[in-house]
Amino acid sequence: MGDTIFGKIVRREIPADIVYENDDVLAFKDLNPQAPVHVLFVPKRALATLNEATLADAELLGKLMLAAADYAKAQGFGKDGYRVVVNCNEHGGQTVFHLHLHLLAGRRMHWPPG
Ligand code: AMP
Repeated sequence: MGDTIFGKIVRREIPADIVYENDDVLAFKDLNPQAPVHVLFVPKRALATLNEATLADAELLGKLMLAAADYAKAQGFGKDGYRVVVNCNEHGGQTVFHLHLHLLAGRRMHWPPG
C-alpha cells in the first residue's frame, strides 16, 4: 500500500475525513483545501507517481477517475463542473508519493493553472 501518509490513511492508521470508498479507491478531504470542495482520491494499491503506472494499472486509473466523477455527480456539482488534477514529481508539484487525484469544485477555476 505504500509507506506514505496516504498509505497510513488507507490502512486507517491515521485519521482522515473520508467521504467515499469502494473496493479499489478511498477519498478524503484535503487538509489544506484550495477550493470549497477539495477531495483526494487515492488507489488503495499504491503507485508512487503516474510515471510508475503501466497498462496493468489502466483499469485502476480508470476506476480512480470514475470514482471522482461519481462523487462529483452525487454531490450535485457535476453540472456546474469541477477540475481533476494529478501532480507528478517536482515540476508537477507532487508532495505525497502515493498517486492521487485532486477533485476541486465549488468555484470557477482559472486557466492556466499556476
Ligand atoms: P500533491 O501536492 O499533489 O502531492 O498533493 C498532496 C495533498 O495532500 C496536498 O494538497 C495536501 O494538502 C494534502 N495532504 C497532506 N497530508 C494530508 C492529510 N493527512 N490529510 C489530507 N490531506 C493531506
